[in-house]
Amino acid sequence: MQTLHEPPTRWAWAEIDTGALRRNTRAFKSLVGPRQRLCCVVKADAYGHGVANCAKVMHAAGADMFAVATVLEGVALREAGQKLPILLLSEPPQGAIDTLLEYDIMPSVYSPEFAWAYGERAAALGRVGKYHIAINTGMNRIGVHCTEVVDFRRSVDFHAGLECNGTFTHFATADDPDGWDHQLQCKRFTEAISALREAGFDPGIVHCDNTPGSVLNPAMHFDMIRAGIGLYGLQPCERTASVLPLEPVMSIRARVTHTCYPAMGEGVGYGFTYRVPRTRVEVCTLPIGYADGLPRVLSNRMDVLFRGERIRQIGNICMDQCMVAVSETSLRPTQEAEVGDLMTIVGRDGDAQITLDELARACGTINYELACGFGMRLEKIYV
Ligand SMILES: *Cc1c(COP(=O)(O)O)cnc(C)c1O
Repeated sequence: MQTLHEPPTRWAWAEIDTGALRRNTRAFKSLVGPRQRLCCVVKADAYGHGVANCAKVMHAAGADMFAVATVLEGVALREAGQKLPILLLSEPPQGAIDTLLEYDIMPSVYSPEFAWAYGERAAALGRVGKYHIAINTGMNRIGVHCTEVVDFRRSVDFHAGLECNGTFTHFATADDPDGWDHQLQCKRFTEAISALREAGFDPGIVHCDNTPGSVLNPAMHFDMIRAGIGLYGLQPCERTASVLPLEPVMSIRARVTHTCYPAMGEGVGYGFTYRVPRTRVEVCTLPIGYADGLPRVLSNRMDVLFRGERIRQIGNICMDQCMVAVSETSLRPTQEAEVGDLMTIVGRDGDAQITLDELARACGTINYELACGFGMRLEKIYV
């Protein structure tokens, strides 16, 4: 057995490489100038990597602000001891206002009703409610329409309980920075910021670039970049990979919990979607399944690493377990695995590597979704 830190109660875990996380964070920090900020996006439990520990590493490596998707994610970050500003990337229900103020979480704002209620409550508590305005420049997800931002500020700015700390938009196609769609969003955002300034409004911290934008379109960095996926060492597209190399942070490991040699023709797993062929096959069970984020569509279509080599996953992936085959080959006539042997579902083992990108491609999705999935139930081990 390799000596690895691992959880005492389960032979499957997510290994989080804090050194890689630190270096990736520094790489993003070095993309911006000394007067610009790095906002680390840690929504969805830091893309499945565990927000409390990741935020500490990012803070030490140069983060200036954190962004979350839900109010409770912001609360978790505060309860983990984070003191940096926290930006909520959505406008929550008005019922969340007391929590925002109590935990010092800045909401994104785009409706006058929410702004008003937030300002009223803040003023009643003798506080000032900081917020960022979200501008819709073409993604059509959230935000004040780009032509209505000045009017929006006019309608809320007089409120003594409100303070605009920032103005931002989000890009739909930042992976194609030369494309017409992206150029149009950039133009609309730049014009909206100019219009605010001309009308005498201070936009606060101006920001729009996500990971691909930060890497591929530095002209749009403004006062802050909002990096997410890249911090975790995952590339949002092929183009960014050649500009900014990053180190994957998450590996997924498991140990064999059972082995057997079923006779030729016997099935493996629910529905017997795999049957043992003529050759002798050692069926090994790993205690990780689709409830741990290993997509069931990968059944019979993925490999895992064992002693630096690829072996096939066989049979339908179950909720909490899956099976792999250690087959005899002419090269390895007696390659046997034993209970307790280490296997790698994602990550490196010797010279071999399985990436989240490879798995994402095989199931027709993106690395973002797989990282979030693996974060949901597996224990995280920080190395
Ligand atoms: C998720 C998100 C980001 C981060 O995007 P990445 O592609 O992971 O860098 C930035 N801004 C907003 C508004 C987001 O929702």
